[in-house]
Amino acid sequence: MKEELLREYARLGVRTGVNLQKGQKLVIRAGVDSAPFVRLVTEEAYAVGARDVLVYWTDQKIARERYLHADNDLFDETYPWQALMFDLLSAEGAAFLSVTSSDPAALAGVDPDRIRRASIAYGQANEKFYARMMASRIPWSIVAIPCKPWAEKVFPGKTGDEATELLWDAICEAVRIREGGDAVAAWAAHCNHLTGQARKLNEYAFAALRYENALGTRLTVELPEGHLWAGGSEKDERGTTFIANMPTEEIFTAPKRDGVNGIVYSSKPLVLNGNLVEGICLTLEGGRIVDAKAEKGEEYLRAEINVDEGAHYLGEVALVPYHSPISESGILFYDTLFDENASCHFAFGEAYPTCIEGGADLSKEELLARGLNAESNTHVDFMVGTPDLSIIGVTRDGREVPVFVNGDFAI
Ligand code: ZN
Ligand code: ZN
Repeated sequence: MKEELLREYARLGVRTGVNLQKGQKLVIRAGVDSAPFVRLVTEEAYAVGARDVLVYWTDQKIARERYLHADNDLFDETYPWQALMFDLLSAEGAAFLSVTSSDPAALAGVDPDRIRRASIAYGQANEKFYARMMASRIPWSIVAIPCKPWAEKVFPGKTGDEATELLWDAICEAVRIREGGDAVAAWAAHCNHLTGQARKLNEYAFAALRYENALGTRLTVELPEGHLWAGGSEKDERGTTFIANMPTEEIFTAPKRDGVNGIVYSSKPLVLNGNLVEGICLTLEGGRIVDAKAEKGEEYLRAEINVDEGAHYLGEVALVPYHSPISESGILFYDTLFDENASCHFAFGEAYPTCIEGGADLSKEELLARGLNAESNTHVDFMVGTPDLSIIGVTRDGREVPVFVNGDFAI
């Protein structure tokens, strides 16, 4: 990877991703293998006037050892200082940048119940921090950089540096970094496009969307009154724009918690907590997932749905045309950050409060009353888009409008 492109990526993460402001602190969450990139991000952060840059390091191999060998009761506990750190920094308005680099098999063979309990404990301890993130009170963003096991999974038959370089190329393409180009400017234009699509959907104010494709998906998704579609950049509490996921190609909103009925099949593998889950089939009644099957990794899927009651309900509806850049690359990334931006998707678990008018200022109880799935310690996206996907929008006065025809926007 050329140093110049790597610098451009660091610049993009800081200036467009979290859009760090002069005098603001930056918290970077990253794996130790990402250190060279994190150093560039740090340089860039100080160049825009960061007050401080704090790095919270993790390591997949150490995490795996802990899951395999630590005492069983440890997975119900967390360390108060970790949650306190994120709570205090987010309360004072720091920006949070995650640099992910995930081996899709990082936790293969780990007891799913340990993962489930750790996820509950971590989610509960960090509740205040996550609430600020979910309501876009603070700027946050996720970017990804390759690691060898990930690259080798994405490009079978290629190994080591060759696979890693191919994955770098694919990531650069997805995040609009080109030699001699200006990625920050390219993103401004891209976000305008997504915002325009969201505006169109908001004007329809659909009561429901009906999904159908040849995989067997037959799902009706009601949308709460006052729901808002969003895409591209968001605004934090201070009115500064940021982009939570890079790449992003989606327009999304929240479903009505108890208004989803039918059956839905996944169209791409999902890497969930370091394990591969394939061939998902969910049955929903009155919004609740009443049956969850998968051809592979079903125990990991079930463990995540059993994190809490809210995980049994959908929290996100997202539209991505089949003919869109990441999808057309034909690359299966085995990483949700990319794969969800190549396909229409849903998420089970907590909804973003900003998906309803005035939602950022509502309590969980008020959000629930407005129809949102407001209470869960998880949020897991899974891909459902196919080249033949049909989505019919039903307006509040009963009119039917084709929203997606053959996998692409029809409006
Ligand atoms: Zn999404
Ligand atoms: Zn999501």
